[in-house]
Amino acid sequence: MANSYDVIVIGAGPAGYVAAIRASQLGMSVACIDEFRRKGSEPALGGTCLNVGCIPSKALLDSSEQYHKVTDELAGHGINVSGVDLDVSKMIARKDKVVADLTGGIQQLFKANKIEWLQGHGKLLSDRRVEFSPHKGKKQTLEAGSVILATGSKPIEIGAAPTDGERVLTSDGALEMTEVPKRLGVIGAGVIGLEMGSVWNRLGSKVVLLEAQEEFLAPVDHQVSRDAKRQFEKQGLDIRLNCRVTETRQGKTVSVHYEDKDGSQNIQVDKLIVAVGRRPNTEELAHEDVDLLTDERGFVHVNDHCETNIPGVYAVGDVVRGPMLAHKGSEEGVMVAERIAGKPGHVNYEAIPWVIYTDPEIAWVGRTEKQLKNAGTPFRSGTFGFAANGRARAMDKTAGMVKILSHAETDRVLGVHICGSQASELIAECVVAMEFAASAEDLARTIHAHPTLSESVHEAALAVDKRAIHKAN
Ligand code: FAD
Ligand code: NAD
Repeated sequence: MANSYDVIVIGAGPAGYVAAIRASQLGMSVACIDEFRRKGSEPALGGTCLNVGCIPSKALLDSSEQYHKVTDELAGHGINVSGVDLDVSKMIARKDKVVADLTGGIQQLFKANKIEWLQGHGKLLSDRRVEFSPHKGKKQTLEAGSVILATGSKPIEIGAAPTDGERVLTSDGALEMTEVPKRLGVIGAGVIGLEMGSVWNRLGSKVVLLEAQEEFLAPVDHQVSRDAKRQFEKQGLDIRLNCRVTETRQGKTVSVHYEDKDGSQNIQVDKLIVAVGRRPNTEELAHEDVDLLTDERGFVHVNDHCETNIPGVYAVGDVVRGPMLAHKGSEEGVMVAERIAGKPGHVNYEAIPWVIYTDPEIAWVGRTEKQLKNAGTPFRSGTFGFAANGRARAMDKTAGMVKILSHAETDRVLGVHICGSQASELIAECVVAMEFAASAEDLARTIHAHPTLSESVHEAALAVDKRAIHKAN
């Protein structure tokens, strides 16, 4: 191990490992310090995303969807299946293998790019020096031309429901249950609550979600969130809004006390997931002599190019402002590595796609109708439901719609909101449209293959000008 590098990255999640790879591609010597240990023992690259976030949650979402297909959907296709047996331990083991394969892949990429993986804790010292405390061995002080902080985030804990890793769980624990709880409570009906709630609901749990806000999925376009809530409730998710959890008591079950508009309420559940948001990992990140500026919520303060207040020190991903999304962090990592190499790196924060991997999926990019109204931006809106889409009918996936918002004068696409099957894939076309400053008419004049779900994007673009073909305008 050297003690001087062009770049030291602290954190090997999607923001940090991508920054490390890009910096190495650009000819720099790179070390990446990460302290994560899978299930408390084995060091692994990939951070939250690969180990306890995006990837394991999607693996379980897919497995539970397969199960639900067999038990609830195939009969409608004339396929009768009997004797279906659920092996949750095997499902979890498959998820673990997917994770291990992908984190092993990052390890290979580090080797190929000659990036030094330093297993342990990193702490920023003055003058772009970093204190490295390995899991095994003595502390060392390393020097770098530039330091990139990419330490990510962790679940927010609430006093009313302390997690214990047994019955009251964070999202980490929600990915490890080897039996289907009969009754599952979830505090927070946000992204994690809905994805994890969907997994266990499909596998047979009776799921109740307790959400503090009056509005369901407040960041999502209203028309889409209303539509989605109806679908989720049809599937059996019991979504209770305006709830304030006051206390949890544990015995053989978890007793959850909460208040809503009708007064004090109580539910009994076998497991409880707390999913009320995440907070940045900034404890023990910088030595007290280093004046690293953070905001009131602990996020490292950065400008649009992810420069901190300390020259030569950058911060990217969940540890800084903006959406806590893997792809947002990765793009910031690329931008910073390129700028360190003297290239013009840039992130377009106006065109970051969001996806919630429920069924139907929810995906969006750009502004919501409410944001445009609040900003006084004149806009036109075009919608198209999947119920009128031939492919969606053939697939029996008719729930949801596409909504396109464009500027009333220039017709430039300002936002696209999709609720429906494969919304996660359909949104990509809309992100490209926004990157290229396309108009709704550009999308309307683009030929979409038939029969595909993407024809709903085409029809919604036509609907902006009230000329959709397969609906009355
Ligand atoms: P992280 O991935 O959190 O990585 C930071 C790394 O730094 C960790 O390994 C941590 O151990 C390490 N570290 C922290 N402090 C130190 C230190 N001082 N020294 C050494 N190492 C340190 N996003 C999506 O875009 N799509 C999804 O589908 C999605 N699903 C999710 C599902 C779940 C259940 C969760 C919890 C999150 C999900 N996310 C998803 C969010 C996504 O995981 C994060 O946005 C992303 O991981 C952030 O990347 P990062 O590199 O900034 O930080
Ligand atoms: P979230 O912000 O999406 O949802 C948290 C929910 O909990 C909100 O609706 C909030 O109003 C509610 N809440 C807060 N305090 C509460 C309380 N005391 N009682 C009841 N409800 C309360 O956060 P999350 O679901 O924890 O996920 C964290 C972040 O991880 C997300 O914001 C997202 O950035 C990322 N993530 C992304 C994906 C994805 O891209 N598909 C999936 C999972 C997580």
